Amino acid sequence: MYAEIIVDLLNSETDKVFDYIIPENTNIKEGTRVLVPFGNRKLEGYVIKVKNHTELSIDKLKPIISVLDDFVAIIPEMLSLKDYMVKRYNLRLADTLRLFIPSEMRGSKVKPIIKTYCEINKNIDLDDVINSIPKNAKRQKDLISFLSNFGKIEISVINSKFGSENVKKFISLNYIVQTKEEFERTPSFSEYKQAVLQHTKEQKRAIESIILNKYEKYLLHGVTGSGKTEVYMTIIENVLKAKKTAIMLVPEISLTPQIMHNFKSRFGQNVALLHSGLSAGEKYDEWRRVRSGKARVVVGARSAIFAPIENVGVIIIDEEHDSSYSSESNPRYKTQEVADFRAKYNMCPLILGSATPSINSYYQAEIGEYKLLELPTRANGKEMPKIQIVDMLSEIRNGNMGIFSNALKSDLFDCINEKKQAMLFLNRRGYTSFMMCRNCGYVAKCSDCDVSLVHHKYEERLKCHYCGKRYKALTKCPECGSSELKQGAIGTERVVAELKSMFPNVKILRMDNDTTKNKNAHQRILEEFSSTHPAILVGTQMIAKGHDFPDVTLVGIIDADQSLYQSDYRSPERAFALITQVSGRAGRKDLEGKVILQTYNPKHYVYKFASNYNYKAFYEKEINLRETTKFPPFTTIVRILVSSENEDVTKNSIRKIYNQLADVYNDYKEDFYYFNAMKSPVGRIKNKVRYQILMRFTKNVESDIMSKIYAITDSEKCAKVSIFVEIDPQNLS
Ligand code: ADP
Ligand code: ZN
Ligand code: ZN
Repeated sequence: MYAEIIVDLLNSETDKVFDYIIPENTNIKEGTRVLVPFGNRKLEGYVIKVKNHTELSIDKLKPIISVLDDFVAIIPEMLSLKDYMVKRYNLRLADTLRLFIPSEMRGSKVKPIIKTYCEINKNIDLDDVINSIPKNAKRQKDLISFLSNFGKIEISVINSKFGSENVKKFISLNYIVQTKEEFERTPSFSEYKQAVLQHTKEQKRAIESIILNKYEKYLLHGVTGSGKTEVYMTIIENVLKAKKTAIMLVPEISLTPQIMHNFKSRFGQNVALLHSGLSAGEKYDEWRRVRSGKARVVVGARSAIFAPIENVGVIIIDEEHDSSYSSESNPRYKTQEVADFRAKYNMCPLILGSATPSINSYYQAEIGEYKLLELPTRANGKEMPKIQIVDMLSEIRNGNMGIFSNALKSDLFDCINEKKQAMLFLNRRGYTSFMMCRNCGYVAKCSDCDVSLVHHKYEERLKCHYCGKRYKALTKCPECGSSELKQGAIGTERVVAELKSMFPNVKILRMDNDTTKNKNAHQRILEEFSSTHPAILVGTQMIAKGHDFPDVTLVGIIDADQSLYQSDYRSPERAFALITQVSGRAGRKDLEGKVILQTYNPKHYVYKFASNYNYKAFYEKEINLRETTKFPPFTTIVRILVSSENEDVTKNSIRKIYNQLADVYNDYKEDFYYFNAMKSPVGRIKNKVRYQILMRFTKNVESDIMSKIYAITDSEKCAKVSIFVEIDPQNLS
C-alpha cells in the first residue's frame, strides 16, 4: 500500500504531494500524521490519501518511518476543507494543514499527561492478603488498609508513603493492580447556577425559525442585551439532544470570563474552550477532548472554526461584523467562508449574530441569501441608554481645552458621588500618539518601520505599535536639542493621568494591550472593577464588548472621530458598531444608563443614526453610498502586497506583476473601477519595504480574475520577496 503525503515544511518548492510506501502491519489512514524520510532529514507529514498502486517507480519510494499519534489527526472533512482553502485563498498545503492542529502538536512539543494509579486487586480475598503479611511488617499492612480505604491512589503518593519496594512487591504478588489514566488539563472555571429564563416572544420566534438538519444561513440581528446568547445556547441544547455537535465563535476580545462561565454552567464538561489564553498543555488536551468526541460543544475564537469536531449540527458566529474574523497574516482566510463550507458539508445551519451586522451581511439578508431574524428590544425590557452628542469645538470656543467636555466632567462627578461606575473608551493606547519637536519638526520614528513612535509615559518609553520595538523616551530633540516637544493625540494612559488628578481618591483602572499582557490580567482588572464602588475603567476596544456590569451608569466615548476618519470605506460601519457596542455597556440592569459621545463633527450621519440606535436607517444610507460609489458588496477589492528587505527588488517585482495584470485589466476594462500600483501607506514594517497593487472590480467577474491573479503571482514567487494576495482586506495600511 502507498500513501500520498504532504510534508510539514513551509517551502513553495516542496509544497506538493509525495508518495511513500506504507510498511506492512502499519495502521495508516487518511489524515494520520507520520514521520517520513525526506532528503537526508526526517520530517513530519500528513497522509492525505491511501492507495493500492503508485505511478512512480517503486525502487525510488521510501517507506514511512512511524506513526505520530494514536488517533487520526485530520478528519475527512478537514481534508476537503484543505482543498477548498488552497484553491480559494491560494494557500500552501502545509500552511493550511497546520491550521487544523494545535501548533504544539508539531514536533511533539506537548504530550498527554499519563498518571499511574494503583488499587487493591478486586479478585483477591483481603483477609488472606493481610494474614499473609508478616506480623512485624507494619508498613505493608498499613499500605493494604490505606488502599482498601481510599480506593484508587496515584502510585507516586503510595510510593512515598509506604516505600516503593513494598509497592513493587505487592504488584508482583498481584495484590495491587496498576492502571494508567490520562490527566486532562482543562481550564477551570467556578461554575454558578444560572436561573432558567423564560424566553421572550422575540427569542421564541428566533429559536423556532431556525431549522436544524438543514443547510441555511441566518443573520440574527439583536440589539445589545437582547439575549442573543440565550438564543445560541438554546439552539445548541437542541442540537445536542439530536446527538450532534456545535461550534460557537466569538471574537478573541469578547471571550470574557462571563461567556465562559455561562457556557460551562450550561453545558459542563461538554464544552471545550479554545483560545489564546490557554497554556500549550491545556490547548492540546482541550483539542483532543474535541477530537475524541468527549466534548461536543466548542467555544472559541477565530481558529476554533478548525476544531476537529464531527457531525456538526450548528455553527454560530457571534459579533459577525468583527474584523478579527479575517486572518490578515499568512495563511489568510475568512472565517465566515470557512464556516459556510463546514455548514454545507454537515448540512447544518450557520448563524451569524450581531447588534450591528456588517453592511455586507445585512445586504445578503436583504437579497434573501441569509434569513433575517430580529431581536429589536432588550431581554429585560430596559430602554437603551441615552446617547448625548457633545460638540468639542464649542467646548474650545467656550474656553475648555481639556480632554473632557463639561458635560462629561459633570456626569463623572455625579456618577462618583452616587458611588456608581463609569467606563471611558478611547481606542488608542499609550500616553500620546507621537512626539514632535516644535522647533525643527523632528518626529520620533521607528528605525524598522515607517511609523511614528507612541509615547508610553508610565514605562517612560517610546514604542512602535507595528513591531513592538522600544526606545528611550525623549526629553529633548535629538536633532536640534530643543526641549519644546509637542505631544500628539491622547491615549488611554493620558486619560488615566487626568482622571487621577480629578479624582485622587477614586479607583481608576486601565485595560488595554499594555495592561493585559500577563495571563489572567484581563480577568483580574475586570474583577477589581466589578467589586469597587465608585470606580472608573478606561480602555480600548477591549472594554467595548461582552461585559455585563450592572452598576455602570455612565459611558464616555472620548474621541468618537478617531474610528470614523480612517481612510477606509468601512470606517462609518466600524464607527457605528463601536459606538453601539460601547454604549451597550451602560444601564444594563436596574439603573438607568447614559452615554456621552465627544466629537468635532456632531452633525455626521453616523452619530445621528447611532445615537438613535437606528441601524436600519444607517444601513440604507450606507448601502446607497456603496452602490453609487461602487464599493463592496457591489464590487471586490483585491490587494497584492509585495515586500522584501530591498527596495529595488520589491519595486521590480511589483512592476512585473503589474505589467502582466495590465493585460487582464485590458480584457476586463468594463468591470474594473480601480487599478493601480503604489507604495503601501506604511511603506516599511520590520525593515521590509512594502509595495502594493490595489484593484476594484465587479463581483460577477471575481472568480475569473482571481484565478488569473493567482497564476501571475505564483509565477512571480521567489525566495527574495513575499507576495500576498488579499480579497477584501480588513486593513489597507
Ligand atoms: P446580547 O448577547 O444580545 O447582548 P445577552 O445574551 O448578553 O445579550 O443578554 C443580556 C442579558 O439579558 C443577560 O444578563 C441575560 O441573562 C439576560 N436575558 C437573556 N434572555 C432573557 C430572558 N428571556 N429573560 C430575562 N433575561 C434575559
Ligand atoms: Zn528639533
Ligand atoms: Zn517598528
